[in-house]
Amino acid sequence: MAILALRPPSTEITLATTSPDTFVGLHRIFCVGRNYAEHAREMGHDPNAEPPFFFSKPITAAVPSVATLPFPVATENLHHEAELCVLIKTSGANIDAADALDHVWGYSTGNDLTRRDVQAQAKKKRRPWDMSKGFDQSAIFGAVAPVSEVGHLEGARIRCDVDGVTTQSADLSDMIWPVADVIAFLSTLVTLHPGDLIMTGTPAGVGPIKRGQTCRVQIDGLEDAAVTYAP
Ligand code: MN
Repeated sequence: MAILALRPPSTEITLATTSPDTFVGLHRIFCVGRNYAEHAREMGHDPNAEPPFFFSKPITAAVPSVATLPFPVATENLHHEAELCVLIKTSGANIDAADALDHVWGYSTGNDLTRRDVQAQAKKKRRPWDMSKGFDQSAIFGAVAPVSEVGHLEGARIRCDVDGVTTQSADLSDMIWPVADVIAFLSTLVTLHPGDLIMTGTPAGVGPIKRGQTCRVQIDGLEDAAVTYAP
């Protein structure tokens, strides 16, 4: 068998961990839509009407925290979405919620950057979300902390600020579907594998980041996920 090297072999996408010089390979990025009731309401939906749904981003969208980036093309309404991210360590399909947390390697902070104007057009025209969610550099991640270090973050707060002004603030327990349920439900749709990362949805308060601004996502016990845009 011959494999044509259409990309250089050194292009594996990795995420930093809290251990110096230690990285984890990224396999896929899944994202949960509307997993906090107040955010579902602010986007014009009834949080009790339907279970959460999933979309994905290409792993090439991943950027480590404390990046300074050019402002994304093709949007004039870039939104932040502060999210808890879950990194899977073992494969599974139809995972029982009671066993789901055994599949978790660790957690990180994340920012599910969104071209809200492009997404609004997609919703209106009933088109896919890919170009509003999966564009270049659309996912900022803090270092991944193993469960052995941080546990499962019970009671932790999640916050987001833009240039130091708080925009989002919630408790992880405000999630409609907790992490175990998200893993169980997603694993009925796809077989999960090591290196899969799940962005678990964002609380209320999503809003714009403008050129020259810095956006910081914080979760108690984890390293921040920060991004600064060029003027
Ligand atoms: Mn999101």
